[in-house]
Amino acid sequence: MQALITDLDKTHSKVQEQRKEMVTRIDALISELNNSKQNIIKNMNGDETQLQMTIAAQLNQLPKKGTDVVKRIINHNKNYYEHLSKYGKQVGKEFISKQEYEQPLFKEFTLDKPVLNQTIAEHMFRSGHYSAGEAFTIEAKVALDEEFKNKFKELNSIVLDLKERRVSSALLWAKAKAKELDGISSDMLFNLHKTEFYQLLNQQAQLKLQLKKLKEGKDSTTNSQNSHLGYMQQQVRSEEIKDDVVMNESENQNQIIEIDDEKVRLQNFMKQKASLEHQIKENNNYMIKYSQKSMRQFSPKYQAQINHMMGSILQLDVIAEFLYQKSINPSHQPNQLTQQYLDILQDDQFSILEQGFVKDYCRLQGLSPESGLLLTTQASTLALPKLATVMQKMSLKNEGFGGLQKQHNELPCEIDLGRDFKFHDIFICPVSKEISHKDNNPMLLICGHVMSKNSLAKHARTATGRDNKFKCHTCPATMTMENVKEIKIN
Ligand SMILES: [Zn+2]
Repeated sequence: MQALITDLDKTHSKVQEQRKEMVTRIDALISELNNSKQNIIKNMNGDETQLQMTIAAQLNQLPKKGTDVVKRIINHNKNYYEHLSKYGKQVGKEFISKQEYEQPLFKEFTLDKPVLNQTIAEHMFRSGHYSAGEAFTIEAKVALDEEFKNKFKELNSIVLDLKERRVSSALLWAKAKAKELDGISSDMLFNLHKTEFYQLLNQQAQLKLQLKKLKEGKDSTTNSQNSHLGYMQQQVRSEEIKDDVVMNESENQNQIIEIDDEKVRLQNFMKQKASLEHQIKENNNYMIKYSQKSMRQFSPKYQAQINHMMGSILQLDVIAEFLYQKSINPSHQPNQLTQQYLDILQDDQFSILEQGFVKDYCRLQGLSPESGLLLTTQASTLALPKLATVMQKMSLKNEGFGGLQKQHNELPCEIDLGRDFKFHDIFICPVSKEISHKDNNPMLLICGHVMSKNSLAKHARTATGRDNKFKCHTCPATMTMENVKEIKIN
C-alpha cells in the first residue's frame, strides 16, 4: 500500500512540474508576441521593406511555436493519463476481491425490510442523529413512537454532559429514579455523588497546589522567581530606598518607577494569596456540608468508600505537596501514603461512569443498551470470513447455506464472537435444545458435562441399568442421581 501512495505522490509532483513548464512556454510565446507588437508600433512610420525583413520573419515563426506548445501539452496529458490508468490497475492488484464474498451466503434468505428500516431508524435516534432519524422514518415509513425517541434524547443529553464532566443532569435523573435503581442493585446514585465529590477534592488539591506555587514564588502568574521570604526582604529594602528618594527629590526618576513596580507586585501577591485562601476555605466548608447532606444516606453500604473519601480531605495537603514536587521533577514518585489517595486525581472515572449510566438507564427504560444495527454489523464482520471458509470447505458455493438453514434453522457451525457478544446468562440444553428456566435448571454430571433437568430425567429413565447407574450422554462416564448437582442460574 505504501508503494502505491509513494507512486501517487511522484505522479502528482511530476504533473505539477509539467504544468509549470507549460505555463512558462505560454508566457514565452506571449512575450514574443508583445515584442513583435512593440516593434511594429516603433516602426509604424518607418520603411516598409524594413518591417517586412525583421518583423514579418519573427511573426512567421510564431504559429509553429504555438503549435509546438499545444503538441507538448497534449503529450503531457497523454503521459499523465497513461500513468493514472496504471495506477488503477495497481490498486486493483492490491485489493483482491474474494469470489466467495460476491455470492450471498443465504440465497433463499429474503431481507425483512420493515425490520431493517426500524433498526436503522432506532440507531439514528440512539446515536443522536435526530433530524436524519426524523427524515428517515418519514421516507421509509417507519412508525417510531415519540416516547422511544424522547428516551434517547434524554439519555444523549445526559451522556453529553458526562462527556464534558458535568454530573448534575445525571444526578437529577438518578435521584428521581433512586428506588428503581436500588431495585436493580445499581450503584449509580452513589457513583455519581462520589464522582461529584472527587471533582471537589480534585479542585481543592489544585487550589492548594496553586497557593503553594504562589508562596514559593514559582508560579508564572506572580512574575517572580524569589521565595516569599526573599520577596518580603527585598520589599523592605525597597521601602528604605523610597524614604531616601522622598528626602532627595533630585534622585533618578527610574528608581521611583522601579519601587512602585515592586509595590504593585507585592499588592498582587497579597491579593492572589488572599483570594486562593478564601476559595480553599469556602471549598472545604462546601465539601463537609456535601458529605453530610449527600453521603450519609449511603452509609453503611458504602462505608469503606466513604471513609476513603473523608480521608482524602485530610490528605489534600500531602497530595498538593506531591503535585508540587512532581511539577519540579516529573519523575518524582509518591510515597505509600500519598499513593493511597491519588485515585482522586484519576481521569478515567467519567468514561466508566458514562458506560455504567447508559447500561442502567437502558435497563430501567426497557431499552437495549446496544444499537441493534451496530451489533449485527459487528457480528457479521467477525463471522463472515469464517462462514465463507466453511462454505468453501463444504463446497456449497452454488447453493449457499440456504438448504442447510431450512433443515436445521441454524448455522452449520458454531462461531465464537467473543465475550462482547454474550448477553444473557442462559443455558441451552445440548439434548433438548431448550432454554433452561427455574424449573428446568442445568444439571452438572460427575464428568463435567451438563444437560437440563428435564432431559436428564428422561435420559436417566431409559439409560439407568441394574446397578442404578446411567451413562453420560456425551462421554462414557457412569454415575447415579446422587452424583449430579443442580446449577441454579435462574
Ligand atoms: Zn460426560
